[in-house]
Amino acid sequence: MLPQEVIRHKRDGGALSIDEIEFVVRGITSGDLAESQIGAFAMAVLLRGMDVTETVALTRAMTASGSQLTWPNLPGPVLDKHSTGGIGDTVSLMLAPAVAACGGFVPMISGRGLGHTGGTLDKLESIPGYDTRPDSDRFHRVVRDVGCAIIGQTADLAPADRRLYAIRDVTSTVESIPLITASILSKKLAAGVHGLVMNVTWGSGAFMAEFADARRLADSLVTVAEGAGLPTTALLTDMNQPLGSAAGNAVEVRYAVDYLTGVRREPRMDEVVLSLGAELLVLGGLASDVSAGRLQIDRALASGAATDRFDRMIAALGGPADFCSTSARHLPSLAPVSSVVPARAGVVTAIDTRAIGLAVVALGGGRLREDQSIDPAVGLTALASIGEAVGPDHPLALVHARDDAAFDAAAARVRSAYTVGDEAPVATVVVTDRIRRRG
Ligand code: URA
Repeated sequence: MLPQEVIRHKRDGGALSIDEIEFVVRGITSGDLAESQIGAFAMAVLLRGMDVTETVALTRAMTASGSQLTWPNLPGPVLDKHSTGGIGDTVSLMLAPAVAACGGFVPMISGRGLGHTGGTLDKLESIPGYDTRPDSDRFHRVVRDVGCAIIGQTADLAPADRRLYAIRDVTSTVESIPLITASILSKKLAAGVHGLVMNVTWGSGAFMAEFADARRLADSLVTVAEGAGLPTTALLTDMNQPLGSAAGNAVEVRYAVDYLTGVRREPRMDEVVLSLGAELLVLGGLASDVSAGRLQIDRALASGAATDRFDRMIAALGGPADFCSTSARHLPSLAPVSSVVPARAGVVTAIDTRAIGLAVVALGGGRLREDQSIDPAVGLTALASIGEAVGPDHPLALVHARDDAAFDAAAARVRSAYTVGDEAPVATVVVTDRIRRRG
């Protein structure tokens, strides 16, 4: 088989056979395919698409391109959640320990932030000592003993995706639904999970701005995951405003601690955590239906059981003991904190959420290139939400900046991200759709 013939087949709109797809993925992994050929293949898929059978084959081949984790002898289901990204999206930090407290095992492999969206790994690295790259033995031990471990991607998990993604990134071929589907699911399948809930975000702060595109991605993810043998439910969630009122790294860890310990559970965040958690418990056979699942997650949060799991996870991965009660001592923070007031008093009617993410980047809390380092202490807190009254005494946000120049750059972005009017818009729900194939 010749790579150029397979590329031509897809370029001309044909459906690739399993053999052709496996041949391409083997070539990506081994290095036998040149970058130019991989770029041309990705472009052909972007322009011509792939049907479900092809996308399942691509997902399976990418899953098999490296090592695959197994979780023998665990007394409960192995579950995971993945988000397509957003701003103020601290969900993983609360959901993983809450699901663990309900009897699930959550080996969560997370990524770093890139562009306007934050990354769970960057947030966790603001905790001193926390090891985001444990060896396989330690990862397995923490998942078994604590019920959850959130770590970074390892080089041997779905290596075909790593090479393909890097080439897609520089060839304008990221925005292909079959390629995104195979990329996300191959990593989850290689991590050996038995059930997956996808948080597919849409809106101004999401990867997919339009609901219809996010819905197509969610459909593809659920259909292909089921085709590859991974029971999956997708929730579509509205990212037309930051999910939580903090955006940054240490500030989001602080937000998660406040949520877990009951200091503050904001309703939109709460709805997303309870909804995703309930779906996972149903997928794992730990709850009979989503209402029961919500109650179980809520109980795990209210009783302190989720906090206990979070503390144990952090300690087991090298962070401080009793982190939730000592986080103020351990998390990097900046003082003084300055506020951004709106140009006029009124009510928030819209937020350009992407611009909020870029304000965090301007502070040094995010990155535009993968090799950039980030400042864990900077960020935004007390972000006003849609419908909230703002004015001279009610700022749009508090800014945690290193210096005046960084404050000015971030404040200008925050101010222009907010639209302030006279009347609150009609309130909208945060979970806008649910996609499930089974049952
Ligand atoms: N996230 C991934 O892991 N892969 C993609 O292709 C897009 C988003």
